[in-house]
Amino acid sequence: MFPDDQLLPISALQHLIFCERQCALIHVERLWAENVFTVEGNQLHEKAHDGSREVVDGTRVARSLWLHSRKLGMIGQADVVEFHPDGRVVPVEYKRGKPKKDDSDRVQICTQAMCLEEMLDVKIELGHLYYGKRKRRTEVRLDSSLREKTLDTITRLRAMIDARETPIAVRQPKCDNCSLIELCLPDSQRLKTGANAWTDRQLNLATTGSLPETDPFEFT
Ligand code: SF4
Repeated sequence: MFPDDQLLPISALQHLIFCERQCALIHVERLWAENVFTVEGNQLHEKAHDGSREVVDGTRVARSLWLHSRKLGMIGQADVVEFHPDGRVVPVEYKRGKPKKDDSDRVQICTQAMCLEEMLDVKIELGHLYYGKRKRRTEVRLDSSLREKTLDTITRLRAMIDARETPIAVRQPKCDNCSLIELCLPDSQRLKTGANAWTDRQLNLATTGSLPETDPFEFT
């Protein structure tokens, strides 16, 4: 059982799945920056996070509900939790865009469901993801394989936070969509390669007195 001061944010799981370095920059180094995607996401969440409670066709609907699990060591806020008259409890998460290729949204909703299971002593079979672009819900079955993946991701997250190590940047196409690109500087790794190449060139020049036919540093 994890004490209050060791609970980790559920949102960090998504960051970890998207990019381990992004996760460490945010949750170890405490850096943050917005881009158009994060702002759109925030706007969508603001609509769901009005804190209201209402009953719709017999279903109690709670918005911006705080969840936690001491067994998992996780804490976060659900956009919506539905309490159906037949006893079903269904978490619903709002997302911008469309379903992602990775499992980050599914892992997030699964973690929320596992928190609710511990808090309410219930079993939850399904969650829902609402995508702004599709404007409809996608059902997420909380089966054993998703639960295993979720537990594995939580274990990896805690190991990273405990180690307090930020992985080096690896330039990938998804970096262009990352709000932290200006803080992460993934292209600096190319510069590192360039520095290594520069050292090799100077050593070669000192020992052989010649330069390769095509010298990448010919501007010098
Ligand atoms: S810019 Fe790329 S490497 Fe850096 S944090 Fe973002 S996704 Fe990860």
